[in-house]
Amino acid sequence: MRNPRATQLLFELSKSGRRASRLPASDVPEREVSTMLPAAAIADEAPPLSEVAEPDVVRHFTNLSTLNMSVDTHFYPLGSCTMKHNPKRNERLAGLPGIAHLHPYQPEESVQGLLQLLYDLQEFLAEISGLPAVSLQPAAGAHGELTALMMAAAYFNDLGEKRTKVLTPDSAHGTNPASARMAGFEAVTVKSNAEGLVDLDDLRPKLDDQVGVFMITNPSTLGIFDDQVAEIADLVRKQGGLIYLDGANMNAILGVARPGDFGADMMHFNPHKTFSGPHGGGGPGAGPICVTEKLGGYLPVPVVAKRDGKYSLDCDRSKTIGRVRSFFGNVGVLVRAYCYICTHGPDGLKRVSENAVLNANYLLSKVKHILPVPHGDRCMHEFVASASDVKKVKGISAMDIAKRLLDYGFHAPTVYFPLTVAESMMVEPTESESKEMLDAFAEVLFRVTDEPADLLHEAPHTTTISRPDEVQAARRPVMKWTPA
Ligand SMILES: *Cc1c(COP(=O)(O)O)cnc(C)c1O
Repeated sequence: MRNPRATQLLFELSKSGRRASRLPASDVPEREVSTMLPAAAIADEAPPLSEVAEPDVVRHFTNLSTLNMSVDTHFYPLGSCTMKHNPKRNERLAGLPGIAHLHPYQPEESVQGLLQLLYDLQEFLAEISGLPAVSLQPAAGAHGELTALMMAAAYFNDLGEKRTKVLTPDSAHGTNPASARMAGFEAVTVKSNAEGLVDLDDLRPKLDDQVGVFMITNPSTLGIFDDQVAEIADLVRKQGGLIYLDGANMNAILGVARPGDFGADMMHFNPHKTFSGPHGGGGPGAGPICVTEKLGGYLPVPVVAKRDGKYSLDCDRSKTIGRVRSFFGNVGVLVRAYCYICTHGPDGLKRVSENAVLNANYLLSKVKHILPVPHGDRCMHEFVASASDVKKVKGISAMDIAKRLLDYGFHAPTVYFPLTVAESMMVEPTESESKEMLDAFAEVLFRVTDEPADLLHEAPHTTTISRPDEVQAARRPVMKWTPA
């Protein structure tokens, strides 16, 4: 049965004269609006606002808020997105008035506490990444990529070198080539080999003195750690290029391996993924970047600095690429990341990664007999299974399975990404799920792949909307209500 809640618009609930508030009688003399505002500022008719009582408003929005799946309501194994539990203590701490009520224009002396927190976060990220210079400015992972590539462009410009290309593996997130283009480079794809690693035979001929940056996601979106990474870094460096590490998958290697140690010159973190910030429909992100000493001068301003025990926003940097975001960055997300890192400490962060990898491998080994995993029997924090076999035998696709999972109360894995695996289903359970939850998810996968194909083609059957036209929903969303 379809979910019966909250399918009507607030406008459709409207009844003339109904009100959610009642104001006391005015104690000042009434005046005509026209005596106070110019005629052009006064509308001919009242706007078509809905007229509803307070319980209607409360029920409407409360019900709407339950239509989406969220980490707080459902298991959410959306690969590449690290939908881990968002600890409620982080919300409480980020909401403390001493943090939430600050104004970005306050004088530095009055925000020393927050600046100390941000400074310490810079230091934490430097330690975790093995890259000493940090900017908290970028507002998302993709924004971190763009910022770092703009820094690379400025760096090569200073060297008097004309480097026009950025290389990205074919399994890379779409943001990698997009960032390369936006930073003014040509994006060149490097193939993966049969094991899902960077194909060195394809890489070598593409590496010349025109290549500015090689962007690598390690572990990759296939959930594999590319152990050729140091060798790749050497090859790139021999040509004078830089290595960018897309750090979206840091949840697999916290405290285990440091990008700075395996050859990265620059990287971004996705604190909303790795450090548990609520994201997607739940909140904004951040994309702090960490770079080597020699690139540090190019970081966007301001950088949080510490001198003689005082914290300040350092804008006075001669090589900086300038500002990439207003004020200090997405501070709310950064505070949550700080709390998360402090809560776990160095040993705890390592355990986070170990358990994320353990959970993913447990699930992989449970489901691979029905949804084969083309790139091996072991994975890092996530794995990419393929629905190709069930499609051949039963005519059900990765999309059908993903949609049907919603009926059973599970958010779907990421489907059809990466593009290098046919009918791909990318599963990332994260460390915050119990064995019971992983078992239940595997059971439902078995059950779904055993159901009649027709039932799956029409799924989901219990949600308010079943299969929207995803292209039109993204390209031409209907955001405006027009009175009938
Ligand atoms: C999520 C992700 C990004 C982009 O990060 P945003 O914070 O969403 O901008 C880039 N690369 C990979 C591999 C990702 O998973």
